[in-house]
Amino acid sequence: MFHTSEIEIDKSAFKNNISFLKDLYGDDVGFSSVVKGNAYGHGIEDFVPIAEDVGIDHFSVFSADEALRVLKAANHKPTVLIMGMIDNDELEWALRGGVHFYVFELDRLEHALRLAKKIDIKANIHIELETGMNRTGFEPDELTSVVKLLEDYEGHYVLQGMCTHYAGAESIANHVRVKEQHKTFLKMKKWFSQQGVEAEEYHTACSAASIRYPKMLMDRVRIGILQYGFWPSRETFIHYAAQRDLQSDPLKRLISWRSKVMDIKHVKAGEFIGYGTSFLAQRDMKVATVPVGYFHGFSRSLSNRGRVLIKGERINVVGMVNMNALMVDVTLVDGVEKGDEVVLIGKQGDLEISVSAFGEMSVQLNYELLTRLPADIPRNIVN
Ligand SMILES: *Cc1c(COP(=O)(O)O)cnc(C)c1O
Repeated sequence: MFHTSEIEIDKSAFKNNISFLKDLYGDDVGFSSVVKGNAYGHGIEDFVPIAEDVGIDHFSVFSADEALRVLKAANHKPTVLIMGMIDNDELEWALRGGVHFYVFELDRLEHALRLAKKIDIKANIHIELETGMNRTGFEPDELTSVVKLLEDYEGHYVLQGMCTHYAGAESIANHVRVKEQHKTFLKMKKWFSQQGVEAEEYHTACSAASIRYPKMLMDRVRIGILQYGFWPSRETFIHYAAQRDLQSDPLKRLISWRSKVMDIKHVKAGEFIGYGTSFLAQRDMKVATVPVGYFHGFSRSLSNRGRVLIKGERINVVGMVNMNALMVDVTLVDGVEKGDEVVLIGKQGDLEISVSAFGEMSVQLNYELLTRLPADIPRNIVN
């Protein structure tokens, strides 16, 4: 296979997730499929056509290079929105391609509008407002200048959106902060209206906000992690499931990641396994080596903690995750041989390894592990 592991993308799982999410949000809420970070590791080139087949016509990315990849991969001329980095040098490309982009500081806004006037193509801008995340977004004391620029360049732009981003809606610990952000956003929106500035759409919700705070849905949601079948955090799922007395997960994961046993070794009680002294064999053990390491995106933080599936059983990682390999404890599994399938993410028999089941160490782990999956492994699409 020329790769030490393989990745599969299940299209029917995506269909399932989109129909679940569309039901949840209702027909009046637009859907933007967030495909930054190589479509959360699923692969932009593979994922975008799948999403288009299921009716998605709006994609959000972080940067201009990702937007370019989406446009190249797409077959049906979707709307592409850059939520982060676009350079002044790239603005002409964006204007000519009809690409939407966030503006969150005056220099970019002015450059975009001036260029739009010069080449006589309307800029599709989304004004991002600072409401408390303290990352990007116009501050209250800049808003008068924003309005002034918009007036000066009337007719050279479409104010496609007004937006903000919440700082951690996946955790109840941030409840007060997120609520404050929502209030601040509404206040700023109202202020703009009073100045005669109205956007085509108002959008603020990511996955977690869309589940926890229905009021934040507004005209469009920007959904990443949920569409791939993962909950933003365990807490978000529990909150959702408890409200509806739900037992099982309505989402399905698209991705599975598999490798093979590379070697088997017997280790005597009292020996350390792998680099250093992090794992001491307490008894005679049988250990399988898997040719996947942190180079391939299997985080070192999963040393002595991660799980894989072999022969339909859940198996612990033992010792440190190496650059290109990891070791697992197969002492109690009969008949494990070189070449046996190892599931790193996905199902085998009745069991499933979800990324988050690796551990509750960090809410961000799902996001981080997915986006670190090697881009160069071909994605097999299954229906
Ligand atoms: C990443 C991102 C999203 C999507 O976040 P999910 O939690 O994956 O749904 C939405 N909006 C912005 C601005 C983002 O950066």
